[in-house]
Amino acid sequence: MTKYIFILGGVVSSLGKGIASAAIGSLLKSRGYSVRMRKMDPYLNIDPGTMSPYQHGEVFVTHDGAETDLDLGHYERFADVNCHKTDSISGGRIYYNVIQKERRGDYLGATVQAIPHVTNEIKDFIKSDLHNEDFVLYEVGGTVGDIEGTLMLEGIRQFANDVGRDNVLFIFLTLLPFIETAGELKTKPTQHAVKTLLEAGIQADILLCRSKVPLGESERRKLGLFCNISADNVVVALDVDNIYKVPLAYHQEGLDVQVLKHFRLYEQAPEPDMTKWQNIVKISENYEKETKIVVVGKYCGLLEAYKSLSEALTHAGIANKAKVKVTWIESDELEPLTDAQLHDKLKYFDGILVPGGFGVRGIQGKIRAIQYAREHKIPFFGICLGMQTAVIEAARHLLGIEDASSAEFGGKCTPIISKMTVWEKDGVQHIRPDNGDLGGTMRLGAYPCVIKEGTLAHRIYEKTLIEERHRHRYEMDIAYKDKLEAKGVIVSGLSPDGLLPEIIEIPAHPFFIAVQFHPEFTSRPGKANPIFKAFVAAALKSEQLFE
Ligand code: GLN
Repeated sequence: MTKYIFILGGVVSSLGKGIASAAIGSLLKSRGYSVRMRKMDPYLNIDPGTMSPYQHGEVFVTHDGAETDLDLGHYERFADVNCHKTDSISGGRIYYNVIQKERRGDYLGATVQAIPHVTNEIKDFIKSDLHNEDFVLYEVGGTVGDIEGTLMLEGIRQFANDVGRDNVLFIFLTLLPFIETAGELKTKPTQHAVKTLLEAGIQADILLCRSKVPLGESERRKLGLFCNISADNVVVALDVDNIYKVPLAYHQEGLDVQVLKHFRLYEQAPEPDMTKWQNIVKISENYEKETKIVVVGKYCGLLEAYKSLSEALTHAGIANKAKVKVTWIESDELEPLTDAQLHDKLKYFDGILVPGGFGVRGIQGKIRAIQYAREHKIPFFGICLGMQTAVIEAARHLLGIEDASSAEFGGKCTPIISKMTVWEKDGVQHIRPDNGDLGGTMRLGAYPCVIKEGTLAHRIYEKTLIEERHRHRYEMDIAYKDKLEAKGVIVSGLSPDGLLPEIIEIPAHPFFIAVQFHPEFTSRPGKANPIFKAFVAAALKSEQLFE
């Protein structure tokens, strides 16, 4: 029977609940269990698709096209699972469903109330689309005590009662502050937070305590005593310098054992295979070489905005046994520079990466960085908006269309990049009206791309049909393909109907490639995405670019 694990957090936010949940998922996976990972966020947006990356960090896109919280990226990377549209829910979506049902008349005659209508909707989500998985993990966003989260906790409490407490585990991630002057770890905030959770009718089963220093036996016993938990279930999560050490650290502290014991599964549980994590940590602590990559982005002030991208660069580094030193530059900083200043700023880097983004700010800076990479033969990798700006750069400087731009940026221009209003998915035509909603209406999720034989893209992927995840509203106008190709910028990947350019490259350049999709979403530790791997290899000027 499926076992349900809820991961809640208390005391403060930003304790790394996403990584903690993902690492617990990976520990269960490493014992051969099937694992499903989900996120429940109490906020009122329907999904994070319309939130600024500065507010909420990256929007992670699943294979089936959901715009989700970046924690789903952690789940996919750590537990090596594909998350689905049905694996993430927000308070906004719950209320929206209830209101829609009320309008449709589904509750006809009833007074629609928080309990049972909203809580039933929460429970329906918890049970939805499950396929007999061994474990389903639900990370609950926010901090216990938040008004916003109250109904979610109530729904979860009811659910645990419905399926039986033996089938449910509550893990509570908390903080033990270390007071330097007293030389002591303090347990009081955790005691209070556990009590707040208890007020919602939920007794934490395992305390996972973030701490700078190891936990003594007396603190463990004290926490157990005050929080109504066995001292064995008080597990320390020490700070680590590399997130890929987290599964190993939890295993060492016996967290997986306590989880299995809670469900009375420990005796028959298979042994864990931790070799993947051991290898990754070993490589990342003994890099043989180093390469310097600059990311010319738009949201560099908050690195969470580029979480999958920076992870994908790390995976590519591990695959090349090289440390990837990343410098983040806000693209608008490049705009006022003279050519000489721009040269001074960019000359140190072995590779230039222009990532995805939205809106006109910083576009000129991106175009200058791309022109620099193209003319100075520096390995270049453009992603989504990075490909669109590479096309604009080529149109302006190689085709001489001075006002070449994207319809996204407004103003009078020649729209080399224009809004997609029609595209195909699984043989079905998608049509978007020009003035439709902004939320959830982009070309989202995995789409196939046909790669031209003999190109750099073909050497990288070693196949002619790939699938990668997308998130965009605009697209290079295919009408410019032949003109650009005549100037040496070729389209090496296209949608199967031949209408949407997916990859461009410059064969005469050592490594210049740009893609309309987001390869960072499919990169995983130990399985780096092929383009990231090749880009880092090119930056290292490795002889074995395609070994
Ligand atoms: N803003 C561009 C578009 O919507 C690029 C999107 C992106 O980089 N994800 O097409």
